[in-house]
Amino acid sequence: MLERAKQAGIDKIFLPAIDSSTHTSLLQMETDFPWCKAMMGVHPCSIKKNYQEELAIAQQYWEERNFVAVGEIGLDFYWDRTFEKEQLEAFRIQIEWALAKNVPIVIHSRQSTLACVQVLKEYKSSALRGVFHCFSGSMEEAHEIIKLGFYLGIGGVITYKNAGLGSVIKNIDLAHLVLETDAPYLTPVPHRGKRNESSYIPLIAEKIAEVKGVMLEEIAQITTQNAENLFR
Ligand SMILES: [Zn+2]
Repeated sequence: MLERAKQAGIDKIFLPAIDSSTHTSLLQMETDFPWCKAMMGVHPCSIKKNYQEELAIAQQYWEERNFVAVGEIGLDFYWDRTFEKEQLEAFRIQIEWALAKNVPIVIHSRQSTLACVQVLKEYKSSALRGVFHCFSGSMEEAHEIIKLGFYLGIGGVITYKNAGLGSVIKNIDLAHLVLETDAPYLTPVPHRGKRNESSYIPLIAEKIAEVKGVMLEEIAQITTQNAENLFR
């Protein structure tokens, strides 16, 4: 899979952290393949009864070394709102880590994009930067994110006919976009339904080129530059 990614022109892969059940394999992958860069954090879906324990584990890693970003962090109101208050608390705590380390945050938001925006507005005067990963929201949500100076992560959803993401992205300047897969999920057409992988990134770039009526090379160049700027 990594060989295929290389052949597709991918030279860096950013790996999100989920929780302590996957941190070890995440870090092993980075050790085995140094062009894969690990993030560290606690995913909002892993904010449960033991969330303080999970935060302490991730914080310990941050004390030992640096990571490319704090992520995935954020709010998920789709699966379960039982720990909404704790999700908000964990989000703010992890934003503080990013500020202390001067790294970006990678935000997971599901049925919670404007709630995430609301939290981020509290940090408007800070140097906080980041990306809303796998953005699939409305024009209004896109504008709120751009106003914060955050990037929109665009994945396979843009290739789904009924998602309507194309008509939103059509009107968004390329300066605000980065490409991503969310592998193994959200596989782009024509592989939809199968496992997603990094070598499919060009399919997403091609779709954005088509939607915006620009050359593929321009999409590749600008989104790569944006990613370099975000994860600098
Ligand atoms: Zn996510």
